[in-house]
Amino acid sequence: MFCPRCGAPNPEDAAYCGNCGVALVSPAPAPITLPAAAGSSDDRSPLMASVLNALFGLGYVYLGYRKVLGLPAPLFVALMVVVYFLAGILTDGLLCVILSVVFAIDGHQKASGLKGYVSAETGPGEARDTQIH
Ligand SMILES: [Zn+2]
Repeated sequence: MFCPRCGAPNPEDAAYCGNCGVALVSPAPAPITLPAAAGSSDDRSPLMASVLNALFGLGYVYLGYRKVLGLPAPLFVALMVVVYFLAGILTDGLLCVILSVVFAIDGHQKASGLKGYVSAETGPGEARDTQIH
């Protein structure tokens, strides 16, 4: 293999480069940078947002929205818990499934920088909506 730092040829089983001494752990692994869970506010995962949104719209809180459908986000989530409970009784859970799918798609869109279709306001200091091109 060739040293990733200096390019010198080394035996395949070499642990260190014979030229510069850098550790040759594996044959040129591509640096994998996953968006960290505790990163900056801009790398919130769309997958995480959609999974959380399927649970009472929790993804909106995760995404930092201040208001959802005109309601403060925590109140919206609390309302959704009640709605899910009632929908579970009255519609045998059908409405819960529909709501979960709608919220999941919307959360995914919002986390991807799209507007989505559920009206939501970002918190103060967040300029999420203005950075969409
Ligand atoms: Zn080297």
